[in-house]
Amino acid sequence: MSFWKQLLYRIRGWLYGRNGVDQIALVALMASLLLQLLASLTGLSLFLLLSVAIYVFVLFRIFSKKSYARQAENTKFVNWLVNLKTKLRQFFLRLKLRKQYIYFRCPQCRTLLRAGRGQGEKEMHCPKCGNAFTVKTGRAPGGKDTGKKKSASSEDK
Ligand SMILES: [Zn+2]
Repeated sequence: MSFWKQLLYRIRGWLYGRNGVDQIALVALMASLLLQLLASLTGLSLFLLLSVAIYVFVLFRIFSKKSYARQAENTKFVNWLVNLKTKLRQFFLRLKLRKQYIYFRCPQCRTLLRAGRGQGEKEMHCPKCGNAFTVKTGRAPGGKDTGKKKSASSEDK
């Protein structure tokens, strides 16, 4: 066996059963690069220190032999990321539509609902649990009813 083949064989044996690179490692490495950039821009060594700490953390994860535990952590992290993305998207949508709609939660099941603004006090029916309650949507400009009666619609879907 040649030297290189032997070396490759050894590395493979050493890596066997270890966690390897996962989503946590990739995101952490990106954060680490960002911190290095911040360190060089600001000259603050704290950022460099944090960046090195993240590197150590990533190396620990990549070479961890408890790959089952690491995979469970990674799954949790990916779910959290997806959840965060959905929440952010909903937040920006609400921000964009805040002039047309008021947002509120169903007092019974906490489902996020919306109603068109300027319809006075409005009777709502939660589409999820059927709970009936009233919300104040504010007066229409000039005190006139806009005539547009929009029913509650769920935002959590
Ligand atoms: Zn409800």
